[in-house]
Amino acid sequence: MADLRSPWRESSTAEAEGSTAEAEDSTAEAVERARGGDPRALARLISLVENGSPKLRPVMKALARFTGQARVTGLTGAPGVGKSTITGALVAAYRERGLRVGVLAIDPTSPFSGGALLGDRVRMQDHATDEGVFIRSMATRGHLGGLSSTAPQALRVLDAAGFDIILVETVGVGQAEVEIASLADSTLVVVAPGMGDAIQAAKAGVLEIGDVFVVNKSDKPGAHEAVKDLRTMIAMAQRGEGEWKPPIVSTTAASGEGLADLVGKLDAHWSWLDSSGERGRRRQARAREEISAIALTTLRRRLGGLPGDSPLDALAARVAAGEIDPYAAADELTAAVPGRAGPD
Ligand code: GDP
Repeated sequence: MADLRSPWRESSTAEAEGSTAEAEDSTAEAVERARGGDPRALARLISLVENGSPKLRPVMKALARFTGQARVTGLTGAPGVGKSTITGALVAAYRERGLRVGVLAIDPTSPFSGGALLGDRVRMQDHATDEGVFIRSMATRGHLGGLSSTAPQALRVLDAAGFDIILVETVGVGQAEVEIASLADSTLVVVAPGMGDAIQAAKAGVLEIGDVFVVNKSDKPGAHEAVKDLRTMIAMAQRGEGEWKPPIVSTTAASGEGLADLVGKLDAHWSWLDSSGERGRRRQARAREEISAIALTTLRRRLGGLPGDSPLDALAARVAAGEIDPYAAADELTAAVPGRAGPD
C-alpha cells in the first residue's frame, strides 16, 4: 500500500459517506496539486487506482469534469519489438511540439509495480527530469476487477491532470493486450522482422485493433517481407466507404528513422476519428466497459463471489455435496444482496 499521509488520509466515515467537508477539501487539494503538475500528487492518485482504494470515489468525482481532453495512444506488440524505444521517441516528438505527455506502462502479467519495470527502460530515463513528462508503470494482476477496471481509471487521472498526450504501453501478449489496446483512441501495433510477429499478431486478434501498424527494426533483414505480410493481411479485412484503412509505417526507432512519418500517421488517424465521429463512439464504448467493470466488481463483492468471502464458499460446499442444486444456491445468494450490501 502506498504511503497515504494527510491530506490523503480521510476518516473511514468520510470515506463511507464521501461527503464530509474534510474529505472534500483534501480530495480537492489532491486533485488541484496533480493538475498543477506535482508528480508526487499524481503518483499517489495512481497508487489509489492500483490499490483499489475506497478513496478513489471522491477523487474520481472531483476529476470527472476535467477529463475527455487527452489523446490516448496505445502501443502493443510482442516483447522486444521496440515498443519502449518507440514510446521514448514519440515522447520526444510531442515534447518538441510543447505538449505534455503521460506514459503508462501496463504489465498485466506481473504482480509487481513501481520502479522495477521502468527501471529497465533506459530510454525513458531521457525524459525523467522533464516536468512535462510523467512516466508510470502499473501492474494489474491480482487486483480487484483486474486491468479492465484499473487501467481506465489511471488514464482518467492523467487525462484530468492535463496531459495532452497519453501513451499506454502494454507488456505481454494475448487477450489482456488486446483489452488494454482497446482503451485507446488510436492503437499502434508494433512488429519486428524475423520474429514471426506478423503472423502472431494475426493469431492474437491484434490485427483487428491496429489503427496504425509499425514494422520496427527496419534495419534488419526481413523488414520488407514483414511489411508485405501485413499489407496482405490488412487488405483481407472488409472495409466500408469512409472507414479507416490502417497504414503501415517502417521505422528504425533506435535511430529515429521513420518516426516523423509515424507521428504524421497518428495525426491523420486523430483527424479521422474526429471527422468520422468514431472518437465519440470509442469513448462511449470505453465508458460503458468502465461502468460494467466497476459494477460487476461491486456486485461480486456483495454476492461474496470474491476470494475470502464465506457465503459463496458455504453454498458451494452444499452444492458440491449434493444438498442443494446450484439454481437454489444462486437464488439464496442473490436474495441476500440488499441486506448485505454495503458501500464499496
Ligand atoms: P519492447 O520490449 O517492445 O519495449 O522493446 P524495446 O524498446 O525494449 O527494444 C528491444 C531491443 O531492441 C532493445 O535492445 C532496443 O535497443 C532494440 N531496438 C529498438 N528499436 C530498434 C531498431 O529500430 N533497430 C534495431 N536493430 N534494434 C532496435
